[in-house]
Amino acid sequence: MKHTIAVIAGDGIGTEVMPAAISCLDEIAQIHDLSLDWNHLDWGSDHFRATGRMLPVDGLETLSTHSAIFLGAVGVPDIPDVETLWGLLIPIRREFEQYINLRPVRTLPGVPSVLRDERPIDLVLVRENNEGEYSEVGGRAYRGLPQEAAMQQALFTRHGVSRAARFAAELATTRSGRVTSATKSNGIIHSMPFWDEIVAETLAEYPGLTLRSELIDALSASLVLHPWDYDVIVASNLFGDILSDLAGAVAGSIGLSPSANLNPEGRHPSMFEPVHGSAPDIAGKGIANPIGQIWSGAMMLNQLGAPRAAAHLEAAFEAALAAGVRTRDLGGTATTEQMTAEVISQIRALA
Ligand code: ATP
Ligand code: MG
Repeated sequence: MKHTIAVIAGDGIGTEVMPAAISCLDEIAQIHDLSLDWNHLDWGSDHFRATGRMLPVDGLETLSTHSAIFLGAVGVPDIPDVETLWGLLIPIRREFEQYINLRPVRTLPGVPSVLRDERPIDLVLVRENNEGEYSEVGGRAYRGLPQEAAMQQALFTRHGVSRAARFAAELATTRSGRVTSATKSNGIIHSMPFWDEIVAETLAEYPGLTLRSELIDALSASLVLHPWDYDVIVASNLFGDILSDLAGAVAGSIGLSPSANLNPEGRHPSMFEPVHGSAPDIAGKGIANPIGQIWSGAMMLNQLGAPRAAAHLEAAFEAALAAGVRTRDLGGTATTEQMTAEVISQIRALA
């Protein structure tokens, strides 16, 4: 089956790790008889400087005709983050109902952990990606006066919470069956009890699963102290955002972490991107770790209905790390190109 994929390499190291990932995916596609057609879109900071927009006026329409969106990193230091977030990422996530942000976190061979106890970590964060704390509802009042105030509303809907909980439950049935829900119902007394109620109702439909609700503060500490005890964690937009960076850091370098913004039903394209940003401090040097982008590509293959190809690609980058080839962020000396060449040779070896 032919898949046309929209590619937004973006800025900084996005333009370095994207070609690396595409060359791995092309290799995999050939072996698994997949047809991947890349449509490169030059949206990013240069486009913003030229037009004042991150996304062209018809950008969402353009994206809608693709099987998936493969994103590198957008953003440069002199353009405020809020432009990339609200000008590109959030409109895409909402337009295409990418209501799940999925971030697998696991320890990889040869990757030193910050933890003294190196028991293997293998968990998945399921973040609600369309509503919750990230909302436009609110405003500022009495600017410059002593009573100056700001108000920011979080919006949780029954529909939104239950579909996130259901996704987490379905995922847990394919894993060890433990779901942890991040909450703060002792402090946030309207939306969080609502969240808890709906998560519990949804999980009650899955008698084989266990559900634990944990306060976000305690959960954050536990994720540092014993991350290996977690399997599937479901969290609101804000809590999920914070936990995913935390869990990613505990497992290894930010350069390794992938993410998927999923429209699980496949009615609209999903978007796949590494967790890291454009890393202006190392951009242009050819030393960025391409694994976060490559792993995001493996998640994309899964969503496109090619799980065997996805597993092959994951096994290949794990083997490349196990072989001792490491980029600078992992304490090695390999360049982006050398790391990529090793992954490609492992793809061939494992074919
Ligand atoms: P953004 O606002 O886009 O998230 P940021 O500057 O907050 O950007 P990153 O761009 O992810 O965050 O960079 C954080 C740190 O991690 C930087 O020191 C960067 O060099 C390093 N880093 C990020 N990605 C990689 C990578 N793929 N390989 C090596 N180092 C990386
Ligand atoms: Mg950042």
